[in-house]
Amino acid sequence: MPQRHKTQVCIIGAGPSGLLLSQLLAKTGIHTIVLDRKDRAYIEGRVRAGVLEQGTVDALEQAGVAERLHAEGLTHDGFELAFDGVRHRIDLKALTGSAVVVYGQTEVTKDLFDARFADNQQFFFNIDDVVPTELKSDQPQVHFTQDGAQHVITCDYIAGCDGFRGVSRAAIPNDVLKTFERVYPFGWLGILVDQPPVSHELIYANHAHGFALASMRSETRSRYYIQCEATDCVSDWSDDRFWEEFATRLGPDAAANLQTGASFEKSIAPLRSFVAEPMRYGNLFLAGDAAHIVPPTGAKGLNLAVADIRLLSRALIEHYAGNDHYIDTYSETALNRVWKVERFSWQLSTLMHQFPENSPFERRMQRAEFDYITESEAASKAIAENYIGLPLE
Ligand SMILES: Cc1cc2nc3c(=O)[nH]c(=O)nc-3n(C[C@H](O)[C@H](O)[C@H](O)COP(=O)(O)OP(=O)(O)OC[C@H]3O[C@@H](n4cnc5c(N)ncnc54)[C@H](O)[C@@H]3O)c2cc1C
Repeated sequence: MPQRHKTQVCIIGAGPSGLLLSQLLAKTGIHTIVLDRKDRAYIEGRVRAGVLEQGTVDALEQAGVAERLHAEGLTHDGFELAFDGVRHRIDLKALTGSAVVVYGQTEVTKDLFDARFADNQQFFFNIDDVVPTELKSDQPQVHFTQDGAQHVITCDYIAGCDGFRGVSRAAIPNDVLKTFERVYPFGWLGILVDQPPVSHELIYANHAHGFALASMRSETRSRYYIQCEATDCVSDWSDDRFWEEFATRLGPDAAANLQTGASFEKSIAPLRSFVAEPMRYGNLFLAGDAAHIVPPTGAKGLNLAVADIRLLSRALIEHYAGNDHYIDTYSETALNRVWKVERFSWQLSTLMHQFPENSPFERRMQRAEFDYITESEAASKAIAENYIGLPLE
């Protein structure tokens, strides 16, 4: 016999989406159970995003987990685009009145876990065989096993926050779910190094050898990336090879400030644009990477996940207060914004990378677009307002 549990909202996935949802719902007394196939240490250790929009900062404030973010986050009033070493600064503050904050996803996750543990949140970690069922009934269930024992959670709603490779999206019948995908023909090789960043602000660089990004996690820790072959392995890239290529792509001006050292993390991420529609099926809601993926150019993945959770938490809170308007419109409202963010991430990726299929014509098109952005305040502003984050709805 399975062990039985009951909750209002069963959240599958303890990444930033699931943790933030649980935290925001707990603030209004809504009970949740959070499940993850990994454990806390593993989830906290995943090195991923690092640039937070103001809307994300607002959500973390609302959740009561922004204290360390305010103390340690780095506010950036701008960032740079570079083309063959020519640099153009997008002045976010002057163009939009807003800024972004550099604070790692590892830290956001840690702050959320601390808050959920302090609140005695009920978690099940290291679980397997997760299956959401009865999605169209008013008592949906989530089945899973932990250490060989079977469990069933009965709830009002299931929040599928289990990332791109989770089970929630797959629980929506094929004749309902529509997916849209573009897989890019290259990857990003990223390293972490304990050296001061090459520049105070991020630099996104397009060079004939491929894309490079100079980012950071703090004033003493840098996060650097280069475009690599989709088939490359980490072992193909010694630190020396990475530094040489990275400096070339940044251009001599920026590279003059580069301080190299031994990397302590090195990984390759594939690049993909993906959207699943709808984001609700019966009493299952999808949020974050479970519903959509963007290429990391423009730093939208985590921010988009948080925007979904802002909409979903409002929908659930209003539902329990007797108003179903937001729950009924969640999928449509979220997707409206998702597609615009997908467009921006795709556009910036297209502008900044070398595509194997590109002819010299496309390269000239990239250069013309870069020149237009540097000369036109309107073009710079269009990039700036997407970068700082579009309105929630
Ligand atoms: C390698 C990599 C690098 C990235 N770099 C950037 C970046 O530089 N900038 C940026 O903005 N974004 C980046 N992203 C995207 C960003 O990290 C994600 O958008 C963000 O993590 C989404 O949060 P999430 O909670 O929706 O999903 P996730 O963080 O993927 O969390 C999903 C959780 O669900 C759990 N799970 C999965 N399957 C199951 C299951 N069957 N049962 C139970 N639990 C399950 C997983 O263990 C995980 O903890 C990157 C993503 C990756 C993968």
